[in-house]
This record gives sequence, structure tokens and C-alpha cells, in this order.
Amino acid sequence: MNFNDTPEEAAYRAQVRAWLEANAPKGGGASDPLGDEAGDLGPARAWQRTKAEAGYACITWPKAWGGGGGAPWQAVIFAQEEARFATPGNPFAIGLGMCVPTILTCGNEADKERFARPAVLGEEIWCQLFSEPSGGSDAAAARTRAVRDGEGWVVNGQKVWTSGAHYSDFGLLLTRTDPDVPKHKGMTMFWIDMRAAGVEVRPIHQMSGATNFNEVYFTDLRLSDAQRVGEVGEGWKVAVVTLMNERLSVGGGASGSSHTRVFQLASDIATLAGPASKDAALREKIADWFVQAEGLKYTTFRTQTALSRGQTPGPENSIAKVVSASLMQDMANAALELEDQFGLLTDPALSPLGASFQQMLLSAPGLRIAGGTDEILRNIIAERVLGLPPDVRLDKDVAFKDIPSGR
Ligand SMILES: Cc1cc2nc3c(=O)[nH]c(=O)nc-3n(C[C@H](O)[C@H](O)[C@H](O)COP(=O)(O)OP(=O)(O)OC[C@H]3O[C@@H](n4cnc5c(N)ncnc54)[C@H](O)[C@@H]3O)c2cc1C
Repeated sequence: MNFNDTPEEAAYRAQVRAWLEANAPKGGGASDPLGDEAGDLGPARAWQRTKAEAGYACITWPKAWGGGGGAPWQAVIFAQEEARFATPGNPFAIGLGMCVPTILTCGNEADKERFARPAVLGEEIWCQLFSEPSGGSDAAAARTRAVRDGEGWVVNGQKVWTSGAHYSDFGLLLTRTDPDVPKHKGMTMFWIDMRAAGVEVRPIHQMSGATNFNEVYFTDLRLSDAQRVGEVGEGWKVAVVTLMNERLSVGGGASGSSHTRVFQLASDIATLAGPASKDAALREKIADWFVQAEGLKYTTFRTQTALSRGQTPGPENSIAKVVSASLMQDMANAALELEDQFGLLTDPALSPLGASFQQMLLSAPGLRIAGGTDEILRNIIAERVLGLPPDVRLDKDVAFKDIPSGR
């Protein structure tokens, strides 16, 4: 593992830092980072276009698709440097991190031509329509049916937890097309227009007060066969491409230097025994968080080293999300305890540090579920990193229609 930048990496980092200092929006953060329906997506769209025009959006994509034509290590360095600035939120993450890369890998040439560039420029936003009431961890349990109708298809069913569906233009939809074969074999993937007749988006209200995700209902939604992504019955293979991209993009989010902010908060709080930062139990916790944050940093270096050598980071990337999501939750809990009665206030104008720890506490449980729950990621680490025996999967070879559903 390399701990320091190579000369080439250091030169690129300096170039990126200078560009960000000149171009990153000052005071950013104007749009909701997760795209609440009340959020104004304008600043996020403008920042995306500025990056795209400079070749810093989708750095690894070919220039013909609107990308930067660069190397994966350059994308890692740009993300690290961009994180130092308060840029607007990123409602494009699901499209550019998962859906459009799936179209670029599994779609036809017309779709690649049609969808890549507008997504890179921030003109079109995508959502991922996989999870259903009957299957989240097990996305292959999806029951939304697509049935042949002449040259096209008719879709009926329901998805849930669809982030950003309420402002998305397009969605990547995983459907069941053949219930007579085992679950992984009877699925087909489509792209859909989120504003087509037969698509109904119902926002879900979260405990944070935001509505970042939705239920999406399909009633006789008509699709042309040209909207199919991949072969009929091979939707699971296409879904795996999306999920691999998801693990890479969600896994990168470490909790950075929040432990130093907790320490700062504790230093500013007076107790009868002096500043709260002198408390031995709290100091022990902060030391523990520091160790975890350093571990995450070096895990990211490992990913960066693999990318610099032209390798693809493997399932060990799952470790980053397992650690960072629970770390965020622990730190936010401790910070709110320190804030005492002010810990109950979520108004940024009234609460210490702009209510940032309150927001962290409210979003951490979702992060522990999205993109694979802690348990699922631990299964992946156990099976594919440590080589332990696989999870028991009794329904793998049974026709989907014969799997007990509880209905
Ligand atoms: C913030 C957020 C955003 C999301 N955005 C999207 C989105 O845009 N598109 C989308 O399609 N989905 C999205 N999801 C859904 C997400 O992918 C699922 O919630 C997640 O995969 C878990 O599925 P589930 O909720 O059905 O829980 P279940 O799969 O029912 O799991 C329930 C519990 O059982 C445990 N469990 C399940 N299977 C196993 C196993 N084999 N071994 C051990 N434990 C197991 C789980 O860890 C969990 O604790 C989002 C979720 C969140 C929280």
C-alpha cells in the first residue's frame, strides 16, 4: 500500500486543488444534499455542469460520453479534494454512480448515446427501482411483473425506498418476467420515463422531517421493448452490475474528522470538573473513534493504490460502509449527550454547530441500511474476503412461483 502520493498523483492533486479554489461555489450547500422535495436543485445542477465542462465530472468516463477520459486514481483524488469544499448536494449520485454505468455496460448503443451526456451535465437525474416490500436485501425476490404485450411490455407492481424518485427523470427498473424459473433467472431490466402514464410516486416522510425516498406504484405502465436493458431473463446479471457500482460509490463515505469536532464541542462545554473534554470516559471514546477513522483512511489508500495499479477494488470495500455508518451514529449520540437540552433542537439557527450532529444522528440509521445492511455487508466480508462458509440459500433452485410468500 502507498501512503503518500506518487509525484504524478501529487501534481494532479495540486492542479485539482487550484481549480477547486478558483471554481467551487463559495458558501455552497444551498440545495438539500439528499434532494428533499423542498430543496432547490439549481445550485447542484450548476456545479455539476461546471465540473463536466472542465472534465472533472465522471473523470473516468470516455470524453465521447461527456466524461474526463481520466484514470480511476484521478477520480479518487478529485473526490478527496472536493470533500474539503462546501459544495451543493449531489442528486446525480445514483444516476452517475449506478444507473447510467449500468446502461453503459449492458445497454444498447442508442441508449448509451442518448443517456450518458445529459446525465454527466446534470440535465437528467436517475433513480434505482430495485427494492420492494417483498425484497430489499434480497433484490432477486422482486415481484413487480412485466408481461409481454405484442411488441412491448406492461408493468404492474410496487417499489419502495426509491431515493430521489420524486425529482428523477428516468429510473432503472428490475422486474419479474418469468415466475416459472428460479428467482435469479426470471428477471428482466428496463429503463423507464418517471413521468410516463402508469407511474405514481408517493413520498415517504422520514423522522428527520425530510422526504428523500418514495414508494413508486406501476399500474399498466407500457414499455417498448427498446427500453429493455440486457436480455430477457438476464435482469439479475444486469442488477449485479448496478449493485457492484453501488457498493463502490456508497462505501467511500468515511466520517472524516467528526471526532475532532466532538472533541472541540467537549472542550467548549464546562462541567463542575472542568471542560467536558477532560472526562476520561469521553477521551477513551474519542481515541477509539480516531483509531477507526485512521483505519478508514488507510482502507481508502488501499483502494486508491489498487486503482493506481489498474486493479478493481474488491469486496473488502464493504468494510468502509460498515465502519463509517456505525461510527457516525456513535459520535452523533455522544455529541447530543454533550449538548444536553440543546441536543433536542434540530433548528440550525438554535442548535450548536448548526444542528449538524442532530442531522448526523437522524441520517446514520438510514446509512446503515442503504446499499446493503450491516448484516449483509458482514456476510459479504465473511464469504468473499475471509472465505468463510456461505449463507444458507434454500430458495436458490426453486421456481419463483413456488417460493412461499406468506400471502
Ligand atoms: C436511505 C435509504 C435509501 C435507499 N434508497 C434506495 C433506492 O434508491 N433504491 C432501492 O431500490 N432501494 C433503496 N433503499 C432500500 C435498501 O436497499 C433496502 O432497505 C436494504 O437493501 C434492506 O432491505 P429491506 O429494507 O427490505 O430489509 P430486509 O431485507 O427485509 O432486512 C431486514 C433485516 O434482516 C436482515 N437480513 C436480511 N437478510 C439477511 C441475511 N441473509 N443474513 C443476515 N441478516 C439478514 C437485514 O440486515 C435487516 O436487519 C434505500 C434504503 C435506505 C435506508
